[in-house]
Amino acid sequence: MESATIKPDFAASTRHFIFTEEHEQLRETIERFAKTELAPNAAEWEETTFPDSVIKRMGDLGFLGLTQPEEYGGQGGDYFTSVVRAEAMAYSNSGGLNMGIAVQTDMAMPPIAKFGSEEIKQKYLKGAIAGDIILALGITEPDAGSDVAAIKTRAVRDGDDYVINGSKVFITNGLRADAIVLVTKTDDSKGFEGFTLFIVDTDTPGFAVSRKLEKLGMHASDTAELAFTDMRVPAGNMLGEEGKGFYNIMWELQSERMVAACACVAGAQRVLDQTMEYAKERQAFGRPIGKFQAIRHKIAAMSTKLEAARQLNYYTAWLVDQGQYPVREISQAKLFSSQVGCEITDECLQIHGGWGYMKEYGVERAWRDMRLNRIGAGTDEVMLDVIGRSYGF
Ligand SMILES: Cc1cc2nc3c(=O)[nH]c(=O)nc-3n(C[C@H](O)[C@H](O)[C@H](O)COP(=O)(O)OP(=O)(O)OC[C@H]3O[C@@H](n4cnc5c(N)ncnc54)[C@H](O)[C@@H]3O)c2cc1C
Repeated sequence: MESATIKPDFAASTRHFIFTEEHEQLRETIERFAKTELAPNAAEWEETTFPDSVIKRMGDLGFLGLTQPEEYGGQGGDYFTSVVRAEAMAYSNSGGLNMGIAVQTDMAMPPIAKFGSEEIKQKYLKGAIAGDIILALGITEPDAGSDVAAIKTRAVRDGDDYVINGSKVFITNGLRADAIVLVTKTDDSKGFEGFTLFIVDTDTPGFAVSRKLEKLGMHASDTAELAFTDMRVPAGNMLGEEGKGFYNIMWELQSERMVAACACVAGAQRVLDQTMEYAKERQAFGRPIGKFQAIRHKIAAMSTKLEAARQLNYYTAWLVDQGQYPVREISQAKLFSSQVGCEITDECLQIHGGWGYMKEYGVERAWRDMRLNRIGAGTDEVMLDVIGRSYGF
């Protein structure tokens, strides 16, 4: 009897069981779009920020409403289609662009879809899915970031309107947005029951972009400080019930954190792949640097951590797709993916040596872009606190 030699096939395709053939086709389509229409412009958009036409183009291609109902122009897909998009967009080579798109699809859109009236959904959800309406999300204020309950932007009922006064800061898409999902305080005396969400048109009198902010990374995205002065918003623009805004925005944050976790892993994988190629080609002391055990072990450790982060993300996404509300797991996924992402982009920059510090290879951009993830959508410390408190501490 012939004895077969058993050998591992490291090049074998390893499709995760949460994804179907349709998911993989979608991944291929978005990757191709990102490689051909986005990546060639990544360097230019670092200087100029990406043009609004990218959002329209993605709307036309059906990429903005993958999980949204078909009656509003969405694709009616499962939650994994959102994961696929977040991962495939890593091929744009632009963390800033990906963040601007994620604000549209996974941060501002979900509260409109879940809490908006039929009239609101017909206008804003349809418009945002088509790419005709650009969205932003306004939670953070100059004096209130992690402590969302400390916001001061007030909405006071006056007839059929609410009059809004206050400010928001660090708002992604803030310079370009047509409408913003806004967290306000409607009753100081009610604690967590005193917050309310609105969708607000940015051409409303009283709305102003007070400042365009400059930042370390994510340069392809715009970041603004916004001011609201006696801004009248129809009561019909409320998202959900008055007084439910705090809980509703905490719900929104889960979607934001989950997609951020997936984007971190996909972005770090791109840089690691590129670094492995570099380590095969770059010679030092008469051999490719990847042949030094020190570098080989770094690569091994990075791929292991990345795989662990990916599996945690996929498991958590599966819980979300099952209709669960896995706040602890999402917080763990966001925390771990951000930290692993930052560690990997830093090590990859190191492996590129001086070239890593130069702009040619794009590693320095990934390093700068990645750093935001330990701060945005809830800092590491806040994630640790949510996880710790979930055990009753
Ligand atoms: C580029 C960029 C884009 C952003 N986009 C948006 C956006 O589109 N919309 C939006 O609303 N916001 C946005 N943000 C804001 C972001 O979510 C906040 O920066 C973040 O939540 C932290 O808030 P903060 O900056 O006020 O920090 P702070 O809350 O002031 O925290 C400062 C430090 O104290 C720590 N800390 C705070 N509380 C605790 C605690 N309880 N225990 C331990 N440590 C604690 C923090 O972890 C941090 O290290 C963006 C931020 C950036 C940088």
